[in-house]
Amino acid sequence: MKKALSKKNLWDKTPPLIKSTLGAGLGLFPPKWLLGKSFRENCKFVRDAQWWPVERAREYQFNKLREMLKLAYERTKFYRRMFDSVGFHPRDLKSLDDMNKLPTIDKQVVDENLLDMCTKSVEDRDVDFGSTGGTSGAPLHFYLSASRSAIEYAYLTTSWGRIGYKLGMPMAVLRGRIVQPDRNGFRHEYDPILRHHYYSNFHMTYDNIKRYLQHIRKIGPCMLHAYPSSAQALAKYIISVGEEALHNVQGILLESENVYSDQIHYIENAFETRTFSSYGHSEKCVLAVQCERSRDYHIWPTYGYFELLDDDGNPVDTPGQWGEIVGTGFINTVMPFIRYRTGDWATYVGEHCEACGREHTLISNIRGHRTQEALITSDGSEISWTALNMHDDTFIHVRQFQFLQEMPGRAVLRIVPADGFGENDTDRIHRNLGRKIEGQLTFTIELIDAIPLSLRGKAIYVDQRIPQEKGTLSDSTDTT
Ligand SMILES: [Zn+2]
Repeated sequence: MKKALSKKNLWDKTPPLIKSTLGAGLGLFPPKWLLGKSFRENCKFVRDAQWWPVERAREYQFNKLREMLKLAYERTKFYRRMFDSVGFHPRDLKSLDDMNKLPTIDKQVVDENLLDMCTKSVEDRDVDFGSTGGTSGAPLHFYLSASRSAIEYAYLTTSWGRIGYKLGMPMAVLRGRIVQPDRNGFRHEYDPILRHHYYSNFHMTYDNIKRYLQHIRKIGPCMLHAYPSSAQALAKYIISVGEEALHNVQGILLESENVYSDQIHYIENAFETRTFSSYGHSEKCVLAVQCERSRDYHIWPTYGYFELLDDDGNPVDTPGQWGEIVGTGFINTVMPFIRYRTGDWATYVGEHCEACGREHTLISNIRGHRTQEALITSDGSEISWTALNMHDDTFIHVRQFQFLQEMPGRAVLRIVPADGFGENDTDRIHRNLGRKIEGQLTFTIELIDAIPLSLRGKAIYVDQRIPQEKGTLSDSTDTT
């Protein structure tokens, strides 16, 4: 898979044993120095920029948009064609409102124009390949600047700081990482640079959860960073066995899946601490994170240009109204996403936060394709679909896919093949997915012509036919 030679990618690829040996020495240094100069500079910028008055943020956005539109127009065939087709030139952007003179794009447009949307050769050293699940069960592939990691991590860590996270603070992480068992069968891995403790959320039996929680209790004041469904599984264990809350967990960061208000109450009740959620996406157009003083999400104005549009493409500016999140990203200069319809939806709240004073656009009730569908393993525990989502080239020749499950521990992966699909693809899918679910779930691959949508027209990643426990939280439950 195409991956740039960035420090982050190299560190990610380093085997755990070497990482722990190298890291034992490096762990003596403060993480902010180990993460590099660019990261430190970005942190400073982000910390200051969040308090900018609205005029300054708008001026910044205007200049960034001019830069991105110019880059896209001059360096890509796709945007030159698109801008010309509506008679628009980047210098025609005189105010932010002029953005609506440009058409929006969506996943299908990206899929059909992938290479024509790139500003440079995708073979360059600083270009990464990315992939994410789409709204229709179709994987989306694209290219990204390798430099985005230092920028994005600065935004995330600064955001988490709103509920007390400090760089270097231990973090207990359950976010789909493959974690091998040690000689005692304990699935835990430690990154001494980031001070992250990874646990396997592919192995969420009560016995394993008990061990994870026992371990987390001993890592000192920390944050828990988890998929909402994984945090809920931990909470369910705590409540059902009557365990005491983990008082060293200072806050719970919930990301990558839709999050529901009854779920938040359940988790906060079990852990006796607050949860904090962020919304972002692999395409890097919009980042929204919760306020420390309310449950609303603040849009980061310096990360990308945010719009909320109704079905007819008109801006949503009435509080309480629902619209689609549309973004123009500032941090991916390899493949600009301009007025990109994300397929995710939110409720408009306002332009100013009374609770904290930040002059950011506020939204709530974010709903997207990050559903909480799950597969059931042979021991009866659940694996979140989000953990199975591949961010690499596993599904490069796949148009759509969906799991069908009729009995625990077994599933059929139904695939609608794209051009070029062959035996190499089935081997790669078996290998890459198999590494994640080894020992928990077996699957066979079935090639089909089309995948039907659910009754509500929503994509189903998992056609789950095993009867679910009553009261299981789902998309139909109420909102945050
Ligand atoms: Zn606020």
